[in-house]
Amino acid sequence: MSDTREDIGPEPSMDEVEVEVTLRPRRFEEFVGQERIKDNLKVYIQAARQRGEALDHVLFYGPPGLGKTTLAHIISNELGVNIRATSGPILERPGDLAAILTNLTEHDILFIDEIHRMPRIVEEVLYPAMEDFHLDIIIGQGPNARTLKVNLPSFTLVGATTRTGLLTSPLRDRFGVIVRLQYYSPEDLMHIVRRSSKILDVEIDDDACYEIARRSRGTPRIANRLLRRIRDFAQVKGDGRVTLPVTEHALEAMDVDGRGLDEMDRKLLRTIIEKYNGGPVGVETLAASLREDRETIEDVYEPFLLQEGLIERTPRGRLATRGAYEHLKIEVPRSLF
Ligand code: ADP
Repeated sequence: MSDTREDIGPEPSMDEVEVEVTLRPRRFEEFVGQERIKDNLKVYIQAARQRGEALDHVLFYGPPGLGKTTLAHIISNELGVNIRATSGPILERPGDLAAILTNLTEHDILFIDEIHRMPRIVEEVLYPAMEDFHLDIIIGQGPNARTLKVNLPSFTLVGATTRTGLLTSPLRDRFGVIVRLQYYSPEDLMHIVRRSSKILDVEIDDDACYEIARRSRGTPRIANRLLRRIRDFAQVKGDGRVTLPVTEHALEAMDVDGRGLDEMDRKLLRTIIEKYNGGPVGVETLAASLREDRETIEDVYEPFLLQEGLIERTPRGRLATRGAYEHLKIEVPRSLF
């Protein structure tokens, strides 16, 4: 990973987790955008409350930084229940998950981030737990082995993943609600930046706010991060107010271009164009050239470049579009005219 990517990539850094908690919306009213998703979730929550049941299991998927964790916490606040948060890679053994499940109370939320990274043997513990709230514990070995059934409180599993395709179908099928989060519009991101500036007590001009929104890769986490960095520039190089000139200067210093692409996005496009003649190039080859892992390319970089129409995905691999050549100011080959 390049330094720039660590600075402004969509994954939270360690010291950022605390700030994120301060900026994280706690209720649906504070959660900007994604109107349909919010409206539907409110209905499911109200219906579950009226029936006195646990909410059905919910799976959120989409690129990092779009609000999956935030929504899990909002659901628990709206339901007025506890939330227990963990993540796929932390759950190494079936016992790790069993310990958490047996400690839940009625209607609690169990949030599992990166649920696709849970080992298969742990995942199998989840099937009966999700389906009819029990655990099958195997005692003993060989012919004397017995299965002990342990009842669990009814709970709601909220899972988060980058792509549903990464989940096995038995796991995916056990979610009653599957929600895809989309990139945010610049208007929504403006609301988010304005809200965050208030919480952080930063004065910001409208045009600066729009500029940050426009250059945040459609991602609230990036918008908030850019805001905090630009605030530093405003404080050190100006009078503390986030103005358009300070914003432009800071974004340039951070290597974020006019469309919000960072160094790694541009490197990816440049590699397809210069090393592979515009493509098609397979994702594995691309990953090796960029010294990045395949999953990061597919989950973090590609979705935004695809949405922006800068690359295309074909069965034979990735292609750079005419827009990519134009954006990088590279002569467009005749074949793309
Ligand atoms: P994910 O779990 O999808 O990676 P998070 O839920 O951790 O993303 O969101 C990252 C940060 O972005 C949150 O801390 C929050 O401050 C901000 N955020 C995300 N979605 C929204 C939203 N719709 N409105 C306001 N802020 C948001």
